[in-house]
Amino acid sequence: MIKTQKVRLYPNRTMKKVLDELVADKSDWQYQLSARCLQLAVSDLGKAWKNFLNKAQPDWGEPQFKSKKAPRQGFKTDRAKIVNGKLRLDKPRGIKKWYDIRLKGAAFLKGELKVVSIYRENGKYWASLPFEVEIKPKAKTGKQTAVDVNVGHFNYTEGQIKTLPNNLKFLYKRIKHYQRSLARKRKANGKKAARSNNYVETKAKLQRDYRKVANIQHDIVQKFTTELVNNYDEIVIEDLDVKRMQMSHVASKGLQRSLFGCFRQVLAYKCQWYGKELFLADKFYPSTQRCSRCGFVKTGDDKIGLDGNMKHKTKHNEYVCYECGATMDRDENAVMNLLALI
Ligand SMILES: [Zn+2]
Repeated sequence: MIKTQKVRLYPNRTMKKVLDELVADKSDWQYQLSARCLQLAVSDLGKAWKNFLNKAQPDWGEPQFKSKKAPRQGFKTDRAKIVNGKLRLDKPRGIKKWYDIRLKGAAFLKGELKVVSIYRENGKYWASLPFEVEIKPKAKTGKQTAVDVNVGHFNYTEGQIKTLPNNLKFLYKRIKHYQRSLARKRKANGKKAARSNNYVETKAKLQRDYRKVANIQHDIVQKFTTELVNNYDEIVIEDLDVKRMQMSHVASKGLQRSLFGCFRQVLAYKCQWYGKELFLADKFYPSTQRCSRCGFVKTGDDKIGLDGNMKHKTKHNEYVCYECGATMDRDENAVMNLLALI
């Protein structure tokens, strides 16, 4: 007789022990959501500790405590299904009427549905539906490019991508207004401020705008990164941490920074998915100060700052080389310098 081995969901022995004990002691309230919450939470924790023992893991660190007071609260279930274009979550114990949730565009959802997480953020409920799909490497084009990231625009070998459309500028301004108004209320009323209706209302408006900004920024980043991996085999970007540091003078820098971070993260995983190569320029590479024609690097008083150069009276968008006399667009020069790294 052939012995069949059961596939174990919990590979770790300690995890299994913890789980068995917790499940045996499960109280009624633990069935209020999906019956799988506890199991999946323990399994996540087990994985987190396992990763903790392996420093090579991305974002390595101790598992983080999730506070009950955090703005985002949620749970996971591995029993969710899509039935007739509707999302069916597992029915909690003791509930009589249970409905499937209508989904817009469910026809596009193909592949195997994995562990679904449901969460509440800013008073709205969200479900994230991960699917397992097959990704094939993209065709090679033999082309290279470099991206110079700036506030308001990304430059690359084919030109410029605007990252600060008017609607985003407007939202940034409004966010600033709401933030100020909330800060004023907090200053005037102290801890009591959060209890006033006015405060709660403004906070909701602020969060709605944050969401809108995130949506617009993600859209820009997703489209641009897709274009990059479609058209190029090798892509160089600069160390964005440095760029982020230089942004002290910029309005809405928090939001701009999140855009930079998002760009790098998305580009990195897309390059990995599609078999393209991503190069990161060294922190100390003088992509702004170097002349892409002759390799001369500006130092001291000759350096160009964000407003150009005071000594030589050059404009903020100019690169003038004192060695070979070339005059170039500052951002195009930076792109060429990054490209020279491959
Ligand atoms: Zn030069």
